[in-house]
Amino acid sequence: MALHDAFARPLRNLRLSVTDRCNLRCEYCMPEDDYVWLPREDVLHFEETSALVDVFLSLGVDKIRLTGGEPLLRRDVPAFVRMLSAKPGLKDLALTTNGVLLADHIDALRAAGLGRITVSLDTLRPERFAALTRFDQLDAVHAGIASARRVYGRLKLDAVVIRGVNDDELVDLIEYGRAVNGEVRFIEYMDVGGATRWSPDRVVSRREMLDILARRYGPIAPIVQESSAPAEQFALGDGTVFGIIASTTEPFCKTCDRSRLTADGMWYLCLYATRGLDLRAPLRQGASVEALKALITTGWQARDDHGAENRLALGPQRAFVPVQDLLKRDPHLEMHTRGG
Ligand code: SAM
Ligand code: SF4
Repeated sequence: MALHDAFARPLRNLRLSVTDRCNLRCEYCMPEDDYVWLPREDVLHFEETSALVDVFLSLGVDKIRLTGGEPLLRRDVPAFVRMLSAKPGLKDLALTTNGVLLADHIDALRAAGLGRITVSLDTLRPERFAALTRFDQLDAVHAGIASARRVYGRLKLDAVVIRGVNDDELVDLIEYGRAVNGEVRFIEYMDVGGATRWSPDRVVSRREMLDILARRYGPIAPIVQESSAPAEQFALGDGTVFGIIASTTEPFCKTCDRSRLTADGMWYLCLYATRGLDLRAPLRQGASVEALKALITTGWQARDDHGAENRLALGPQRAFVPVQDLLKRDPHLEMHTRGG
C-alpha cells in the first residue's frame, strides 16, 4: 500500500542532492560571496545514500532526480547512477545540471543507466550569462546541451524568468529549444532560501509569460496532464510543447508528492520547510531497515506542509529566511543545499 501524508498525497518523488557545492553563482540561488558548506564528514557516501534509497523505494518512491549544488561536481556520479539504475522499482531516474561539466560525463551517465537530463539555462546572451552566474561558461553549457542531444536525442531546459534580467528572452529560448530538441520550462522566480535578492516585482507570472508568448506565436493550448508534475504543459500552434512552473503565483501544493534528501542525509518534506528529519544519524548508528522505514513512514504520515501556498498567502513581504545571518548559520536553508 502506498504511503500517504496528512493530505492524502503519496510519497513518490525523491530529489537527491549529492553536493551543496557549485561551479556557478546564479544570482537567484547563490548570490553571496561565501557560504557555510556542509562539513565533508557529514556528506553521505554513495553506499549510504543508496541504502536510504532502498528504504524509500520500499515505501513507494519510484522517481528520483539527482541535483545539487551542481551534481556533476561530485566525483563518481556515474557510479552512483549505476547503483540506482539497477534498483528494481525505480521507474524514472533523472538529473538536473547547470550543464557546464555535462559534455565530459554524458557518455558515462548514459552507460550507467541515467534516464533523462534537464539542463538549467536562463539566457542565451554571453554577457548576460556571465552577469547572472558570475562565470563565463555559456559555451560549456551549449556543449553540454549538444552532448545531451547527441546521446539522448532530447532533453529539458529549465529557465528561471526574472523581470529586468531575462524576461525579453522567452521567444529566443523557445526557438533555441526547438533547435536542440529541448522542451523549455519557464520557472517563476521563487522566494526560497538563497534567493536573497528576491522581490515580488521581479517575479514574471505564468499569466504574463503566456501573454508574451501568445503575442509572438498566437493562441496557446494547455495540455491536459494526469501527473503530479509541477510544470503545466502548453502547445504552440505548430505543436511545440513548453512548460511553466508557476510555484510562486499558482502553487501546486495540493498534489505535491516531492521530498528532498540533502547530501548529508537530512530529509525535507517541503521546499519551504525550515526543518528536516535527520536520517544520517540513525543510519550511521546502525538503525535497522525496519527502524528507518518506521521513521520515514511516521514522517510522511505527519506531513501537512503547504509551503508555497503559505508563502503566497503571506503577501509580498520577504518571508522565507528574512535574516541573512540565519542562512549563514544553517546551510540546510539554502536552495543549493536543498536541490531546488
Ligand atoms: N545546479 C543545478 C542546476 O542549476 O540545474 C541543480 C541545482 S539547482 C538548485 C536546481 C534548479 O533550481 C535550477 O533549475 C535552478 O534554476 C532552480 N532555482 C534555483 N533558485 C531558484 C529560485 N529562486 N527560483 C526558482 N528556481 C530556482
Ligand atoms: Fe549552482 Fe544550480 Fe544554484 Fe545556479 S541554480 S548557483 S548552477 S546550484
